Amino acid sequence: MYERCIGSIMKIYNTLTKKKEDFVPLQEGKLTMYVCGPTVYDFIHIGNARPMIVFDTFRRYMEYKGYEVNYVSNFTDVDDKIIKKAIEEGKTAEEISQRYIEECKKDMEGMNVMPATKHPLATQEIDGMISMIQTLIDKGYAYDADGTVYFRTRKFKDYGKLSKKNIDDLEAGHRNIKVAGEESKEDPLDFVLWKPKKEGEPAWQSPWSDGRPGWHIECSVMSKKYLGDEIDIHAGGEDLVFPHHENEIAQSEAANGVPFAKYWMHNAFLNIDGTKMSKSLGNFFTVRDISEKYDLQVLRFFMLSAHYRSPLNFSADLMEAAKNGLERIVNAGEKIRDAKAKGADYVMTEDEAKNLSEAQEYVKKFETAMEDDCNTANAISAVFEYVKFTNSIVNAESTKEFAAKLYEILEQLCNVLGVILEKETEAVGDEDYIEEMIAKRTQAKKDKDFALADSIRDELAAKGIILKDTREGTKWSRS
Ligand code: AMP
Ligand code: ZN
Repeated sequence: MYERCIGSIMKIYNTLTKKKEDFVPLQEGKLTMYVCGPTVYDFIHIGNARPMIVFDTFRRYMEYKGYEVNYVSNFTDVDDKIIKKAIEEGKTAEEISQRYIEECKKDMEGMNVMPATKHPLATQEIDGMISMIQTLIDKGYAYDADGTVYFRTRKFKDYGKLSKKNIDDLEAGHRNIKVAGEESKEDPLDFVLWKPKKEGEPAWQSPWSDGRPGWHIECSVMSKKYLGDEIDIHAGGEDLVFPHHENEIAQSEAANGVPFAKYWMHNAFLNIDGTKMSKSLGNFFTVRDISEKYDLQVLRFFMLSAHYRSPLNFSADLMEAAKNGLERIVNAGEKIRDAKAKGADYVMTEDEAKNLSEAQEYVKKFETAMEDDCNTANAISAVFEYVKFTNSIVNAESTKEFAAKLYEILEQLCNVLGVILEKETEAVGDEDYIEEMIAKRTQAKKDKDFALADSIRDELAAKGIILKDTREGTKWSRS
């Protein structure tokens, strides 16, 4: 059998160096990772789902390799958009954010995105933000101007190192823009760390004013609190590179005096008709919209069908292709499970042992793809090849032991992709599922595949569903 070991090297494209680099963790066997989460003022759209799915898959792979992963992803629950929505709906900002955090968690569950080790909320971390802002003021990196606190951008010498922007070019771009209310800034490049409240807005007491934090400071603080001053990986969509991540680096490194994240990973956009899907353009589908037509597993599989750094265009055709591809894998799983249930109980034959060692080639292919900067598109191709291979070698003569070993491999690879081979919830007795199984069995009988027909009957019987074949078709009842 193959050995999984941390030793084989994951390569990551690091936005900071613009190169693919070997991943060397800060602490052997451990991975600390922070992924910027959504602002919770509405249902998430499928563009927001892309970082959730791709970085969840990266995390799953690292866990599969044996890493102990500490994965933190925030919810931004204080923001202009939340306040606007609260006013529109006559609710509090907290009611709005709580509602959409719950909805987001339901969507994540449907897409089989693992809950983070910790999902911090900005509003629960205000003390930490006040304390980091105070440190920045004490060190001369920030200043209070009539209750608003700004970061002194030019003082941070490395500003622009992530987005590769030159500070003088940025200055030129800003010169003509005088934003109302920001006249007290020392320099147009300075950005907000704390702002005083306006009438009706949620606010917290601070040494500078009753108000609320800027957006960037929350991630610096939550990352520090839950992962430490220095972390392995910081990730998010590519629209966050500038200014959000650039500003996070400035705040964290100025306050903590050590490098912030070793590797920066950014996913490309999910597009629609070649344009970034976004709330503001109105060209979006929510994850909830998609769930009305598809199992969200299909959406997940669709997202993973492209490399995370390639733009991905959403289309009905690609979703159908994803649905078919997923079905191919699930059906192969069913076939092997069937062989496992019915196979002979003696030890694996010599031929089977040979085939099993050949199976390791597909595992290797899969791992090579995943270690090449998380190339899920190629990893999926390896799974398709494996499925083709198992379809060709699993049959009524296969031994239980052989089928079980093949299934274990498929299950492990699918688990990294977050693809569920056998859905437990459906199996408990959901009526649509039972009807679907009956239709499959009827088809199997038509195809004279009696082994499959019997296995479906047995599978349902094991779940307490009894089938009765009548002249009007197959009827079912619960035992
Ligand atoms: P937001 O709520 O806008 O801060 O977005 C949450 C996450 O979704 C961030 O990591 C964004 O970069 C990401 N994101 C937003 N729109 C898209 C898109 N169309 N494609 C890929 N990622 C996106
Ligand atoms: Zn962030």
